[in-house]
Amino acid sequence: MEHPENNEEYKGLTVNGGVEQPSIINPYLKRGRFRRRELSAGEMVEGIVRGDITVLSQAVTLVESVNPDHRAKAQEVIEKCLPHSGRSVRIGISGVPGAGKSTSIDEFGIHVLREYGGKLAVLAIDPSSERTKGSILGDKTRMEKLAQHPSSFIRPSPSAGSLGGVARKTRETIILCEAAGFDNIFVETVGVGQSETACHSMVDFFLLIQLAGTGDELQGIKRGIMEISDGIVINKCDGENVDKCHLAATSFRNALHFFPQPESGWTPRVLCYSGFYGIGIKEIWDMVYEYIDFVKANGYFDYRRNEQSKYWMYESINEHLRSHFYNNAAIQARLEDAERIVLAGEKTSFMAAKDLLDMYFNERDSF
Ligand code: GDP
Repeated sequence: MEHPENNEEYKGLTVNGGVEQPSIINPYLKRGRFRRRELSAGEMVEGIVRGDITVLSQAVTLVESVNPDHRAKAQEVIEKCLPHSGRSVRIGISGVPGAGKSTSIDEFGIHVLREYGGKLAVLAIDPSSERTKGSILGDKTRMEKLAQHPSSFIRPSPSAGSLGGVARKTRETIILCEAAGFDNIFVETVGVGQSETACHSMVDFFLLIQLAGTGDELQGIKRGIMEISDGIVINKCDGENVDKCHLAATSFRNALHFFPQPESGWTPRVLCYSGFYGIGIKEIWDMVYEYIDFVKANGYFDYRRNEQSKYWMYESINEHLRSHFYNNAAIQARLEDAERIVLAGEKTSFMAAKDLLDMYFNERDSF
């Protein structure tokens, strides 16, 4: 049928027949021909040290894998990266959902990259990912400006395993990122449970984001989280919220007086800011770097890192022993029975545990 535009009335306009639409698949591309060759551990390390982000991402995926072969290779890569690591400033950022972590990290990150240069990695520890099998923290879409920045690397929380396992993987990723030349590393975590302690055990500065609530904010905050914070920042200090934020800051400052002086010799500060409007960001980062200079000068910086290394060695042993015990077939077969006996009051919890442990260790001895 003739196209209406070829009608006399459309003088000067003709529609050509056109060509057949080519296939979107390249006919010369044979399946699997261009599949990426798997890199050896040595090649991976070389790529990481060169700052190759693609190789870094592959190595992080390896670290997160539960496959035993991958784990062995990951350990080799980490070990080879260790001599190149340790030269970054590691900052933990915590806050309850809705506190404004992602909005703030976007602003913080851009500020740090602009003022201090270098490269920035944003990692996360998200225990909820254990249940949802998908992490929300560290998601690129939540940090739009940073995600587009050529000097940033954003990685969501590893998702499988226990909190200890998730935290270990994040710590190992820090090593890889440092070897790849990242000078600043943010570790984001949700302020709702044990995850802050895990986060605190791998960073140099722990920043707690708070909101001004209804005047009773201090009641809702776990003492432990405040105690491990090197700085508390009150977000959303904008619009009608300004007075409330300053009031909350005073309450926090007063509360901090009741805590013992931290080992670092640093007195934690409380600042107000607005992540959304970009107000007070400079003051926060001036504080963070003042702290870093302070603890580097008094030796606490290295002391804390050494303590953390020791902590992770013991954590690693604990994790290994625990999983070995619970994965033991004989133990697995008896656990339910032991529970029933304890609940029926036939044995104390202590005795039931001792019997299982004795059995486990005797079985070990018989090998
Ligand atoms: P997260 O769950 O801690 O990551 O919090 P988000 O960054 O997603 O922020 C939660 C909500 O608070 C979003 O609707 C933000 O737009 C809002 N928000 C974050 N920072 C500010 C701020 O400084 N001022 C105001 N007014 N709102 C903010």
